[in-house]
Amino acid sequence: MAIQNNRLTTEQYEQNFSDIHPPFDSREAALVEANRCLFCYDAPCTKSCPTSIDVPKFIKQITTDNIKGSAYTILDANIMGGGCAKVCPVEKLCEGSCVFNLMDEPPIPIAKLQRYSTEKAIAHKWPLFQRKPSTGRKVAVVGAGPAGLSCAHALSREGVDVTIYEKESKGGGLMTYGIAAYKVTPEFCEEEVNFITSLGGIDIKYEQELGKTISLDELRANYDAVYLGIGVGVARQLNIPGEDLTGVEDAIRFIYDIRERGYPSVPIGDKVAVIGLGMTAIDAATQAKRLGASEVTIVYRRTQAEMPSTEVELNLAKLDGCNLIWLASPKEIKGENGRVTQLICSVMEMGVPDTSGRRSPVETGKTIALYVDMVIKAAGQVPYEALVSTNQLDHWNGKIAINGEATNLPGVFAGGDCVNGGKEVVDAVQAGKDGAKAILNFIQSE
Ligand code: SF4
Repeated sequence: MAIQNNRLTTEQYEQNFSDIHPPFDSREAALVEANRCLFCYDAPCTKSCPTSIDVPKFIKQITTDNIKGSAYTILDANIMGGGCAKVCPVEKLCEGSCVFNLMDEPPIPIAKLQRYSTEKAIAHKWPLFQRKPSTGRKVAVVGAGPAGLSCAHALSREGVDVTIYEKESKGGGLMTYGIAAYKVTPEFCEEEVNFITSLGGIDIKYEQELGKTISLDELRANYDAVYLGIGVGVARQLNIPGEDLTGVEDAIRFIYDIRERGYPSVPIGDKVAVIGLGMTAIDAATQAKRLGASEVTIVYRRTQAEMPSTEVELNLAKLDGCNLIWLASPKEIKGENGRVTQLICSVMEMGVPDTSGRRSPVETGKTIALYVDMVIKAAGQVPYEALVSTNQLDHWNGKIAINGEATNLPGVFAGGDCVNGGKEVVDAVQAGKDGAKAILNFIQSE
């Protein structure tokens, strides 16, 4: 067993990391699906979308070949509607709410239809939105992730000049750096960011980090308002012996490296254990397999009934050949010569329900050993508590406290993962829209 990079051929990497979303193979195929839609008056699909995309309207526009109109309908509600159509867990959002589920028939493939329109808009750089004349007002946005980009686009449409400060060298945030490359390719992420900024009035300054190269005080002094969309980024530690051995990786860092460094240069173990069962864990496990690991085992301390990922995600991992061990909690990582050789897990069982009816896993006293050379930790992320505290922002365990969208500091607003601790991309987009609305009200009242 060994950790090594460059395990596959160029063709194998390309095949393993190609986009998993096959487009409609013809206009007719898209029309067949679009014409199945019942165009429900009280559309549950729209209600279940955090950005309230008018689903029946954009599907109706597809049926009349009004693809530009359809793309406008989607992107007017969700400027990252192209990316969201690739990464949203639609099985628990729009498609999960489609009335066809009640008739035991397949739901309308809303995400695929959404991609049908938005991919054309982005690829052809359709100028769907017009920016109002400049008002002379200036807003700084910290973070070019979904919340920041959405906020910036909504402000710029209203004639506000926006400068985004982004700590990485590319925009897109979680979409660009935190999601499996086969779900949304790096090329698409770049095109999507360019599409958003093509509106004008949005200047992104890269490799600028709050608390390092820029300060909140400075931004407050130089702009009419500041929006913080800094996300969450610090991986939660397991706090078990052996966590510092060579071969123990954070899932966030692992996924980041795959996207930033390129597939062949990322080292991967022969036998890999992934701890956790959220979306990030699934993305890490499937990509470990696609990088050439011979065996990947996902370890989760509860049962399938409590797993945070969706059934669709779980099936993706199973199809990629990942193993699953339920009711196992990491207890110790053992090694030889400083390198991982074993992951020891406590065997758990679900305890009796507490007063809220929730059952927690408890140790049985038994353990199991997994012989692995790499352990990827995907036990969640924690907010930037030190950064938030240093800047005198009120917070809840590092999550920025807001009233409406406003923080306790006058003229400073916040939204997305840095406020809620980490939700879907589509939630961050809506947070950015809400932030822009609050900032516009603030600027006008000044
Ligand atoms: Fe169409 Fe389904 Fe939405 Fe009804 S619920 S409008 S059928 S996509």
